[in-house]
Amino acid sequence: AKAISGSHYKFFDHDLQLSIQRKRLIESHLHNAINNNELNLLLQPKIEIHTGHIVGAEALLRWHSTEIGQVSPAEFIPIAEKSGQIIELGNWVLNQALQLIKDWCQKGYKIPKIAVNLSAVQLKDVNLVQDIKKALEHYQVHSEYLELEITETAAMSDPEFSNSQLSAIKAMNITLAMDDFGTGYSSLSYLASLPIDRVKIDRSFVSDIQHSNEARGIIESIIHLGKILNKTVIAEGVEETEQLELLKRLGCHEAQGYLISRPVASSEFIALLGKADS
Ligand code: C2E
Ligand code: CA
Ligand code: CA
Ligand code: CA
Repeated sequence: AKAISGSHYKFFDHDLQLSIQRKRLIESHLHNAINNNELNLLLQPKIEIHTGHIVGAEALLRWHSTEIGQVSPAEFIPIAEKSGQIIELGNWVLNQALQLIKDWCQKGYKIPKIAVNLSAVQLKDVNLVQDIKKALEHYQVHSEYLELEITETAAMSDPEFSNSQLSAIKAMNITLAMDDFGTGYSSLSYLASLPIDRVKIDRSFVSDIQHSNEARGIIESIIHLGKILNKTVIAEGVEETEQLELLKRLGCHEAQGYLISRPVASSEFIALLGKADS
């Protein structure tokens, strides 16, 4: 029996060592990801529930490393946040999104807002506001096309500085959305104090909506909160027709998820927009 517990710890050490090695591997190869052209942005449409029209899209980062293959952002973003590489990655994503918007506008396409995710580390960066301003000027893109998604937990750490950063971004006429809402325990008064236009209901509540009264209750109160505070409410991670129907009945404005579309390449997104148009 002693031997069993001994080997149990050995396995644990082994797993731990593997995960440390994997993190080092990712961190070291991430350094070349931008120069080696290994990054790509996909777009996932957002629809207005009562019309079905595409009213926006979220840009989602993809990394195909020549050395280690496809790595999920859920794995490499936290590593890039710890190493500080997220600042460079975040700027790449913003620039790439603005380049897409610029190309589309030049072609005369009628496009909706494109949302870019901002990491908690970027929100703490004193250069953030300047970087965004410079990028908008460089690409000559109107700020009304840009939306930024900030997680509830990111906004809650250092609330005062977050608030001043967000206010400066809002002053540029950029739309702000609070991501993963419902998971961060922020208060009603705190949410009311932020210059946020939109609230995204976290996927965990949406996936439980049919089976958990609690999840449905939370969704109902977020929608209610949105009405009181005059914020557009969107549900993420919608995978089933029944979830969309329920959300519609509860008065949720917008939806995003595999049911509507997976994240797609930019050319495919334009094709989807065209289809929805005619
Ligand atoms: P997130 O911001 O909450 O993004 C939504 C995630 O849910 C995306 O995963 C998306 O592909 C996935 N998703 C969308 N619809 C569904 C659905 O119906 N079902 C399920 N199961 N999943 C759905 P992805 O692209 O793997 O990104 C994971 C996370 O990585 C994102 O969560 C975000 O926190 C982060 N991330 C991705 N791109 C960026 C980026 O450019 N910058 C930053 N800072 N973070 C990013
Ligand atoms: Ca997001
Ligand atoms: Ca989210
Ligand atoms: Ca989420």
